[in-house]
Amino acid sequence: MILGITGGKGGTGKTVFAVNLAIAFARMGKKVAYLDCDADCPSAHIIAGTELRDREEVRSFLPHFIKEKCMKCGKCVSACEFNALYQLTGKLPELVDSLCSGCGACMIACPFGAIEESCKVIGWTYTAKKYGVEFFSGELKPSEPLSEKIVDAVKQRGLAKKHEIVIVDTAAGAHCPVVCALGGCDRALAITEPTFFGENDLKIISAVLEKLGIPYETVVNRSTISDRKIESVLEIPYDKTMVECYVDGIPIVEKYPEHQISKRILSFAKRLVE
Ligand code: SF4
Ligand code: SF4
Repeated sequence: MILGITGGKGGTGKTVFAVNLAIAFARMGKKVAYLDCDADCPSAHIIAGTELRDREEVRSFLPHFIKEKCMKCGKCVSACEFNALYQLTGKLPELVDSLCSGCGACMIACPFGAIEESCKVIGWTYTAKKYGVEFFSGELKPSEPLSEKIVDAVKQRGLAKKHEIVIVDTAAGAHCPVVCALGGCDRALAITEPTFFGENDLKIISAVLEKLGIPYETVVNRSTISDRKIESVLEIPYDKTMVECYVDGIPIVEKYPEHQISKRILSFAKRLVE
């Protein structure tokens, strides 16, 4: 099972819930991988109280211009949809590294073979292990624009090993890196909270999941902070113990397995694998 855990709105407690759910699966004897696909702000390892290791570089294509072959025709500049290339009259094309997506269109467009392949490091992937869960995480290098490539690399690294359950924890929102993370998921959980923004952003992520054809269910976190009712398969009440566990870096199902929230998460995990 590849289970996407997402939610249109940030700050709903999505990752805290996802980490606890992963540990609940591991407690059931399942081989669990946790793919932290929030490449701009990976935090699952912090919530699990572990450190990231085994750093691997993620590289992206970068064009290298061969001066002697370039006829200054400008076709590469026209082919670049990211405005990463510019050319002054009669001069060689110039590259703005930070805007380059690595799509390679310029190399294909060049009729004179004046562009060859080079690369740049755009981020890193890591692994970690705790509470029987294998974590895979990615981090985008500051100033690099494309989180999707890091998300892809995390998925590639995590899915290369065989696990019974793979949790794909997406970034907040409904933008490209979220869609990229959700690709290939068998099912998903949309985590929200009973607020105006929670409800509004749930509609957006629901539309994305429907468009992707991924069956999903809704989980309402901090369900007691308002009277607003959102249809869901699981409600987790607001409880300061969750905050305490977050601060301590010990997930609630580990620190207080008999707490009512832990019991809810554990029985929900059982229901998901039945
Ligand atoms: S690789 Fe793509 S984004 Fe980068 S310069 Fe070439 S066309 Fe532009
Ligand atoms: S398309 Fe090739 S030949 Fe034309 S300007 Fe670009 S690098 Fe030079």
